[in-house]
Amino acid sequence: MTHDANCIFCKIIAGQIPSRKAYEDEELLAFHDINPWAPVHVLIIPKAHVATLSDTGPEHAAMLGRMLALAPRLMGELGVTNGYRTVINTGPDGGQEVYHLHMHVMGGPRPWLKG
Ligand code: AMP
Ligand code: ZN
Repeated sequence: MTHDANCIFCKIIAGQIPSRKAYEDEELLAFHDINPWAPVHVLIIPKAHVATLSDTGPEHAAMLGRMLALAPRLMGELGVTNGYRTVINTGPDGGQEVYHLHMHVMGGPRPWLKG
């Protein structure tokens, strides 16, 4: 599996940086954002290092589908009952800060800090 030694999310996957995990399987990891915008704010990431959504191709379609399919299940498990937002920031103009593909899933009662 692709791993980037300088990548903060690869370090989380490897257990070198602690995280509050919400879900894990062979292919995906979900953990709570360290700086949440909403009462529930998790990040869903592939365990294989892929820098951005623009670096994916047809070979990633199943993994991307699984990331999206995990969102409603996780929100249900975390008690979010009134809707949520799913966001993937891509590249500089997309506001991406961490260059390991991740999907934000944000929910819980408003107001939220951002968004
Ligand atoms: P983005 O702008 O989409 O790249 O967002 C990166 C997100 O990663 C931000 O919401 C950060 O709060 C979050 N983040 C950065 N470092 C960590 C960490 N060590 N644990 C959990 N979330 C993190
Ligand atoms: Zn990585």
